[in-house]
Amino acid sequence: MRGLDDVADFVIVGTGAGGATAARVLAAAGHDVLLLEEGPRLRTAERPRELLGAMGQAFRDAGSHTTRSLGPFPILQGRCVGGATAINSGIVWRMPPWVRADWVAQHGLGALVGGEALDRAYEQIEREIEVEATDPSIWGGNSTLMHEAAMAMGLPGKAMRRNAGRCQASAQCLQGCPGERRQSMDVSYIPRALGDGARLHTGARVDRVMLEFGRAIGVEGALIDPMTHRVLGPLRVMARRAVIVAASTIQTPVILRRSGLRGLVGRRLQMHPGAAVVGRFDEPVAMGWGATQGYEVPLPDRRLKLESLTLPPEMLAARLPGAGASWQTRLTELQHYAQWATIVRMEAHGRVRPTFMGGGSDAAVTFEPTRRDMLRMRDGLATLARMLFTAGAREVFPGIGGLTPVMRSIDEVSLIEETELNPGRLLMTASHLFGTAAAGEGGAPSVVDASLKVRDLSGLYVMDSSVFPTNLGVNPQHTIMALVWVAASRLAEGRG
Ligand SMILES: Cc1cc2nc3c(=O)[nH]c(=O)nc-3n(C[C@H](O)[C@H](O)[C@H](O)COP(=O)(O)OP(=O)(O)OC[C@H]3O[C@@H](n4cnc5c(N)ncnc54)[C@H](O)[C@@H]3O)c2cc1C
Ligand code: SF4
Repeated sequence: MRGLDDVADFVIVGTGAGGATAARVLAAAGHDVLLLEEGPRLRTAERPRELLGAMGQAFRDAGSHTTRSLGPFPILQGRCVGGATAINSGIVWRMPPWVRADWVAQHGLGALVGGEALDRAYEQIEREIEVEATDPSIWGGNSTLMHEAAMAMGLPGKAMRRNAGRCQASAQCLQGCPGERRQSMDVSYIPRALGDGARLHTGARVDRVMLEFGRAIGVEGALIDPMTHRVLGPLRVMARRAVIVAASTIQTPVILRRSGLRGLVGRRLQMHPGAAVVGRFDEPVAMGWGATQGYEVPLPDRRLKLESLTLPPEMLAARLPGAGASWQTRLTELQHYAQWATIVRMEAHGRVRPTFMGGGSDAAVTFEPTRRDMLRMRDGLATLARMLFTAGAREVFPGIGGLTPVMRSIDEVSLIEETELNPGRLLMTASHLFGTAAAGEGGAPSVVDASLKVRDLSGLYVMDSSVFPTNLGVNPQHTIMALVWVAASRLAEGRG
């Protein structure tokens, strides 16, 4: 058996948006930083381009982890160096002002998000990870058609801002950017932190934080083969200054609960579940060329955000109606489809619990959208269908069980608006996840305080998406990074 025994001042669990940013800040300040990542370190150029291989390597459970609910749906998570940033589309949004005001007023987080420190963090991160609006010259057919529909219908559409200033329109963000043009954490902040002296162990699965007399002294778990999950030996890493858990909204509460923490840990899970509508056009759309996601229509008053979404052809094929010969005919028309998605800022709260079934990070996730959430989902899907017809689609595939699979006129969109939608009738997925170790001050229910330190314990911090007291309604990576930047900077200066 080969194990891992190590020690550092700051031990960071997870290398995604939160963990990589904490490492970037602490290592640059000259601290001794050790990163522990359960998944593999993948070279983008060598990542498989076909869907199953790509998801098998970089996604947790190859993307098959689902909610336990009446209509289960996948919760997509990265499991590799870079976390979900290594598989995402690089869409960048700052926190909407109304969410920021709510976090200050209702959750007492003025010290974290109320001042200029957060704005400075956003600005510096935007410079460092090459954030730019997606130029129309690389929108490709999918985003261009969405723009035309938004303009024709008077909707507030805009080019997405993304951390891919040098994007070459290969539409492969999910498989890892082949030319490392998208500045995911595996190609930006992790190498930068390593250059500043941080160390990284992959295949390092943390099961629990070791606590002694109210203080975090280190972590323990298993050293594993990151691809096969085979256990190679025990893992024990001591932390002289602090343990920073940044294992994501789903995995962080599992580690904390296994460490004996209770209360709100794992509760108040929030999400932005999404679903897509496909349209067939006479002229080729050629989805395979263009930014994976390039155009969006934010509708915050309706708790919706509409996005162009190019998926690998295998995934698109699964969305085509028909069977046998008719489905095969549809396959020959792959170039003629456009796909757009709606995400919903859902109000439901779910829960994450460790399952104790097998390896270290098994999580049982319960989440039931409310009726209002599903009415908003229906609103989003109907709006997308109407937009597709407005852009010239001959056919629209709403993807709702029990409803006609193919609509041929805009008049049929009312069928979506009239149907009673429940999660069991459509293919939802969720990739924006929040809230299972919420931050708060001044009596607001919370797991961590405004410095992201776990209450009533010293030397233990949570720096990832689980600290969000609410969801945002917009893409979260940038705000995760900015919050962590502020908190890690204070910790680096001894003010955390
Ligand atoms: C397909 C997809 C597309 C997305 N698109 C966008 C987008 O365009 N824009 C945007 O803003 N957001 C997007 N998101 C969401 C965004 O990527 C995540 O919200 C963000 O990366 C979460 O950051 P995090 O630090 O909380 O966790 P993650 O980035 O998930 O990182 C957690 C890391 O911890 C590791 N880990 C977990 N458990 C353990 C353990 N026990 N021991 C050791 N390591 C462990 C994981 O392997 C992982 O590497 C997308 C997400 C997905 C899945
Ligand atoms: S669309 Fe292609 S080139 Fe552009 S950021 Fe995504 S993977 Fe990279």
